[in-house]
Amino acid sequence: MKRINSGDKRRLRVSLCNAFDGRCAYCNTYVGMKGTVDHYLPQALGGTNARPNLRWCCATCNNLKDDMHPLEWEQVMPTVRLRQETPLEAKQRLLAQIAPRRQPMNQGPASTHDAA
Ligand SMILES: [Zn+2]
Repeated sequence: MKRINSGDKRRLRVSLCNAFDGRCAYCNTYVGMKGTVDHYLPQALGGTNARPNLRWCCATCNNLKDDMHPLEWEQVMPTVRLRQETPLEAKQRLLAQIAPRRQPMNQGPASTHDAA
């Protein structure tokens, strides 16, 4: 097993950050050096540390993607890219889409008119 030592890791991060213009590869949010290294094909699914498999992305996308297979992620990603939201907004919206619809708290405008 090949380990990435911290010096290499730092160089890799800088290099990836530059390659992706400091932006998340998935939602295009500017993250600068706060980005994370994502394995496009997750290591859990046999992905490697080879450069073509690496993406620079925000922590939110990385968390969302987790060990998702790229094909599965491709279906989720367009909704991530829709617009530039705060990571929290994007996550909440995605979770809402993924989770089965729950009844929101009843805040409807109705109920002022009581049927007599
Ligand atoms: Zn992102």
